[in-house]
Amino acid sequence: MSKARSGLFPTSTANAKMLRATAYKAVHTMIANYKGSKKPSMAIGAYDVKTGKIATAFAGEIPEKIHPELLKRAEMIGGVGTKGLSTKNKIGVCAEFHVVNDLLLSGSKISDIKLTHAIRPRTKEGRPYCINCKKMFSDLIK
Ligand SMILES: [Zn+2]
Repeated sequence: MSKARSGLFPTSTANAKMLRATAYKAVHTMIANYKGSKKPSMAIGAYDVKTGKIATAFAGEIPEKIHPELLKRAEMIGGVGTKGLSTKNKIGVCAEFHVVNDLLLSGSKISDIKLTHAIRPRTKEGRPYCINCKKMFSDLIK
């Protein structure tokens, strides 16, 4: 796993609204600091409402280590590496998958994790979640 494509940031507060704003800021900072020539297709942030931990990630290759909870959720729609409910996305590639995985692996409970909206690094505009992420993370995007 390359450090430049993701990040985990501990914070001292568990104020959800402030955490959300901090997570958005962290995503934009990650995008601004991206050094590659071709910007990744998508970026997103996530935060743990209990611990205040924040994670950001770009979309990219399926992580080598995937938390069992995430594997279980992916199984419901075909499993990691399949197209799931979509026609083009592969489950495990999405930025959403990466941030949730990073927080779970760092000790967060899935019920404490919330996602920001996805952001397209090239335009900095918000993008809708893909159909796989909508299904897998329906409780994290409310
Ligand atoms: Zn997705």
